[in-house]
Amino acid sequence: MRIGGIQKSTLIDYPGKVAATIFVSGCNFKCPFCYNPELVLAEEIKKHPLIPEEKIWEFLEERKGFLDGVVICGGEPTIYDDLPDFIEKIQEMGFLIKLDTNGSRPEMLRQLIELNLLDYAAMDVKAPKKRYKTVVGADIDVGQIDKSIKLLKKGVIDFEFRTTLVPGLVEKKDILEIVKWISPAPKYFLQNFQSQGKLLNPKLAKAKSFPDEYLEKLKEEITPHFDVCQIR
Ligand code: SF4
Repeated sequence: MRIGGIQKSTLIDYPGKVAATIFVSGCNFKCPFCYNPELVLAEEIKKHPLIPEEKIWEFLEERKGFLDGVVICGGEPTIYDDLPDFIEKIQEMGFLIKLDTNGSRPEMLRQLIELNLLDYAAMDVKAPKKRYKTVVGADIDVGQIDKSIKLLKKGVIDFEFRTTLVPGLVEKKDILEIVKWISPAPKYFLQNFQSQGKLLNPKLAKAKSFPDEYLEKLKEEITPHFDVCQIR
C-alpha cells in the first residue's frame, strides 16, 4: 500500500463512529474537482513523501480503545492488490473498517466483502453513465461502476452512495439520471462543490458552490427513492 496521509481523529468520516482516516496515494481517475491532487497527480505525488506502513501500525497500536474504526480512502484504495491484507491487519487490531471507493474495481470490492473485511462502504457515483468518462477525466469502463453498484445493493454490508455536484459538470439533470440508475437504495448523499483549497483542475477554483436552496429542492425531489437522502 502507498500511504499518502493520515488524519488521526475524525467524527464525520465514519457515520456514528470516532475514526482515523488513512489516505491512500494513487488513483485511476482524474476528477477535475478532486480535493486531493497530491494523492492523484504523478508530479504532485512525487513532492509528498509516503508514510511507511510501520508508522501506521505504531499509531493504531497506540489508539486501540480510543478509536472505533478506520476509514480507508484516497486516492483509490482498491487499485492496490494488497488491500485485503492491509485491512485484515487493521481489523485484527480491533477496529471497524469503512472503505471509500470510486467503484472502479468491483472484483476487489467483492473480495473484501466475501472475506468479511468491510463494515461500511461509501461509493461515489460521480456522473450518469453516458457522461462518466468526461466527469472523471479518465477512459474508464463504466460497466465496472455498474457492477459495484449492483454488488453493494445486494446489501451484504452497510453502504451509501454519494455524488458531488459540480457547477457546469454535475448538475440537477445529472443527479436525476444518477437516481434512476442507482435507486432504490438505502442511503444517498448529495455533496456541494467546495472551491476552497487546492483542486485537481485549478480552473475550477473560481467556480461557486450551488446555493443551499438548489440542493434542498433537489433533495426533496429525489428523497422518495431512498430510505435516507441527505445533503453533506
Ligand atoms: S475525487 Fe476522483 S481523482 Fe480524486 S481521489 Fe476521488 S476518484 Fe480519485
